[in-house]
Amino acid sequence: MDKIVALCKRRGFIFQSSEIYGGLNGAWDYGPLGVELKRNLKDFWWKSMTQLRDDIVGFDGSILMNRAVWKASGHEATFSDPLVECLLTKKRYRADQIEPQSGTVYHYWYQRIGKGMWNSFSTALAAGVTTTPSPVEFAVLVHKGKPEASANKVARQYYDQAGLPAEFEIKPTKFEQVENSTAFNPENGAQLSEPRVFNLMLKTYIGAVESEDAITYLRPETAQAMFVQFKNVLDVSQKKLPFGIAQIGKAFRNEINPRNFTFRSREFEQMELEFFIKPGTGPEWLDKWLEERLAWYESIGIPRAKIHVLTVPEKDRAFYSQGTYDLEYEFPFGIQELEGIAHRGNYDLTQHQNASGKPLEYFDEETKTKYLAEVVEPSAGVDRTVLALLCEGYDEETIKDEESGKEETRVVLRFAPRIAPIKAAVFPLLKNKPELVAIAKDIYKTLQPLLKVAYADSAAIGRRYRRMDEVGTPFGITIDFDTLEGAKEASTSATGKPIEVGQKDTVTLRHRDSMKQERIAIADLPAYLLSKVI
Ligand code: ATP
Repeated sequence: MDKIVALCKRRGFIFQSSEIYGGLNGAWDYGPLGVELKRNLKDFWWKSMTQLRDDIVGFDGSILMNRAVWKASGHEATFSDPLVECLLTKKRYRADQIEPQSGTVYHYWYQRIGKGMWNSFSTALAAGVTTTPSPVEFAVLVHKGKPEASANKVARQYYDQAGLPAEFEIKPTKFEQVENSTAFNPENGAQLSEPRVFNLMLKTYIGAVESEDAITYLRPETAQAMFVQFKNVLDVSQKKLPFGIAQIGKAFRNEINPRNFTFRSREFEQMELEFFIKPGTGPEWLDKWLEERLAWYESIGIPRAKIHVLTVPEKDRAFYSQGTYDLEYEFPFGIQELEGIAHRGNYDLTQHQNASGKPLEYFDEETKTKYLAEVVEPSAGVDRTVLALLCEGYDEETIKDEESGKEETRVVLRFAPRIAPIKAAVFPLLKNKPELVAIAKDIYKTLQPLLKVAYADSAAIGRRYRRMDEVGTPFGITIDFDTLEGAKEASTSATGKPIEVGQKDTVTLRHRDSMKQERIAIADLPAYLLSKVI
């Protein structure tokens, strides 16, 4: 992961937000190459949903919505995570993400009997002081085989903070064996606070007065706008069930513990589809969308074998969900969710119909009945998918440098051409040969309106190839002496057409993954490249 993070910064994929001010936890900026990668990903999702299918329409809702939306959807009351705090470091964690631990718990107990005066449990008891003022209790979990001293050290820090004079010796008063306990901080063994509910929505005020009735939230998911506008979209698009509404946009969650680079951020983007269906057809559509989405990931270069499909057990599902699949990817830091596909029943439409008093029913012309549509929602994270693409694409191999013959490490991002930030790079073999440069510039200008191309003329050709490998550019086009003087040998071009000895106006086409080089006629380049990146 460290290598990927370093590459992202070095080559301008992803930077820490507000970096020169020390950053902002949970927020990231996409640099020149990152934004291209992210855009290609979003464009391809958009195309797959709204262009290649007849049963889905696009939508772009506002981030700020009437607070009533969040009351009706249940977010205001229940969109929360359980939060625990380390009593020693004050660091906060999601209680449900604390790894269970086993070992011996050392219990410490001190009675503060007066300003600056402390007693151990036994001394306090002997002195008859048991209730006032309050005792200072603290516990530390120590894994098997670790010495008592390590617990004492943690307890010492805790009591130091509480003001215990340095001359006091720390001794545990009670021991306890625990199995799979989530009450202790896995990083230092210190006791955690009791969980408390923490709402994840970022609150803001609309207008000049920060009063209760000016409150609203930055949306924590894009979905709600699509439910609220269901009727409008239905009326204008004249779709019949089943049909979907697709949206890509920012979402915000005040995550307790943003981590793993961009994986868990406080500001992120989602690609969400609300697919409205006839009642009773949920399980069938849930499975259809699972297959669709797995095939889609495959088509952007994330193989099926790397995606784990988790059938979320009922106890772990959102309360409205009648079935959920989580699509999880093997990230270097663990197997983690990329996308959730949930059968939400008619929960959302019911809530908004009841709260707004406006009918959101669908009139079924076949059966001449009115009912609330149900929904299956594939909801994917843009940033998490970008991260998965970077992890999946990253590769290192040892190769021999073409010029020096020395062994070196080649870093390559093996992006699928359709999502690669730069599709092809144009290189004149030598920059001081005007004939080569003129043709290279001409090719570059011809390709520029069609796809994202780069032009590079400095450094040896091997170095230029390597720099493009590192950012995942799938094709290199080199204008060399054969271009001017004619091919030295006969070959089959990249398009399958023959190249004859002496044939001019051909260039070298280098493939990033195999490093294989072949010739191609300049005239064939646009169609060839377009066919590979679409
Ligand atoms: P998690 O359990 O990881 O917090 P979730 O189940 O709450 O995620 P959903 O509400 O289903 O997530 O959101 C749909 C998708 O949005 C997720 O699969 C993920 O790709 C993306 N997403 C959710 N929260 C974040 C986040 N904090 N940072 C980046 N992406 C996120």
